[in-house]
Amino acid sequence: MDFTNEPGANIQQQSSLQAALQIAEERSAMLAAIVDSSDDAIISKNLDGIITSWNLSAQRIFGYRSEEMIGESITKIIPEDRLQEELKILSILRSGQRVDHFETKRITKLGKLIDVSLTISPVKNTAGNIIGLSKIARDITDKKLEEQRKNDFIAIASHELKTPLTSVRSYVQLALIRAKNHSDAFTEDLLCRAESQTMRMITMIHDFLDLSRLEDGKMSLNFSRFSLRGIMGDILAEGKILAPAHVITYSGCADLELYADREKISQVLSNLLSNAIKYSLEGTLISIECILGQGELKISFTDQGIGIDPIDQQHLFERFYRVRNEQMKNISGFGIGLHLVSEILKLHGSEISVMSEPGKGSTFSFILQV
Ligand code: ADP
Repeated sequence: MDFTNEPGANIQQQSSLQAALQIAEERSAMLAAIVDSSDDAIISKNLDGIITSWNLSAQRIFGYRSEEMIGESITKIIPEDRLQEELKILSILRSGQRVDHFETKRITKLGKLIDVSLTISPVKNTAGNIIGLSKIARDITDKKLEEQRKNDFIAIASHELKTPLTSVRSYVQLALIRAKNHSDAFTEDLLCRAESQTMRMITMIHDFLDLSRLEDGKMSLNFSRFSLRGIMGDILAEGKILAPAHVITYSGCADLELYADREKISQVLSNLLSNAIKYSLEGTLISIECILGQGELKISFTDQGIGIDPIDQQHLFERFYRVRNEQMKNISGFGIGLHLVSEILKLHGSEISVMSEPGKGSTFSFILQV
C-alpha cells in the first residue's frame, strides 16, 4: 500500500526537506566563514578561466576587490610569460588530477611580481562532470627570499672553501709521494686517510655549489667529447683512495667517446661510488659495470650494502631526502647527492633508476646516448 498520498506523509516529507535545507544552509555558512578567514587566497573559476568567487585573502594578496575580479579572466593576475602554464594546468585538471603546491609567480594590482604556491582541484557536479576549478594560492615571497639568502650563503661559503681545500689536497699528495719514496709506511697510511677525507670534502663542496646553481636555475652543461676509459680510470683511482678496504671491480666495454658534460658526469659517478662505499661494509664488493647497447651505454653501480626499503626508494631523489632507520643513525650526510645525480642526468636527457633489497644491496644505473 502507498502511504505517500496521505496528509501525514506530506507533512513528514516537508519537515525532513526543511531540515535538510537548514543543514545545507548551515554547512554553506560554515564553509563561507572558513573561506573568508583563511590566510590563503581561495579563488574559484569556471573552465574558461572566468573567476566565480574571490575571498578576502585573495583581495589582500593580489590587491583587487571581489567586485573587480568576479566575472573577469584569471589571466588578469598571470604574468604574460606564464600564460602557457594555465593551459597545462587545465589539461592536468581535465584528466581528473589535482595540482599540488605548484610554485610560480603572479602579478598584483600594483604590478608587483609575487611568489605563490598553488593547489588547484577540479570542482565536479553530482554527475561527476568537471564544472569548474578551485584554487588556493599561498604567498611565499618571504619564504623564497629566505631560501635565496640561504642559497647565496651556501654558494659563497662553498666557493671560498674550494680553493684552500684543493691546495690542501695537493700538499697531501706531495707529502704522500715523499713518504712513499722514504718507505715510511706509517706516514703513508696517515696521508692516504687525509687524502681520502679531503676528497670527500671536495665532493661535498661541489655538491653544494651545484645545488645552489640548480636552485637558481643556473646549472648549465658544458658538452664535450671525452673517453669513457679516461673517466672510468679516474673513478676507479678515486675508489682506491676512498675505500682501500672494499673490493671494487670494473667490467667495462670497449673504449668509446661520450658526448656529455665531463665534470658533471664525473660528479654523478663520484656520488654513486661514494654512496656504494658509505652504505656497505668494508671488505664487501662494489661492482661498476658498463654495457654497450644499440646507440646507448648503460652504467651501473652495485653494492652489497644495507639496501633500501621500497617505500624509501620512491623518495630517494628528492632534495634533502635521507632514509631514517636504525642503520642510518650513525651515517651522516645531507641528502643532496642523489638529487643532484638525478637532476644532472635529467639535463642530459637521461634518468637514474634504482633496484634494491634491504639487507642485500642496491644497484643504481643510468643510460647515456653514444
Ligand atoms: P646522503 O648520502 O648524503 O644522505 P644521498 O642523496 O646521496 O644523500 O642519498 C640519499 C639517501 O639514499 C641516503 O641518505 C641513503 O639513505 C640512501 N642511499 C643512497 N645510496 C645508497 C646505497 N648505495 N645503499 C643504501 N642506501 C643508499
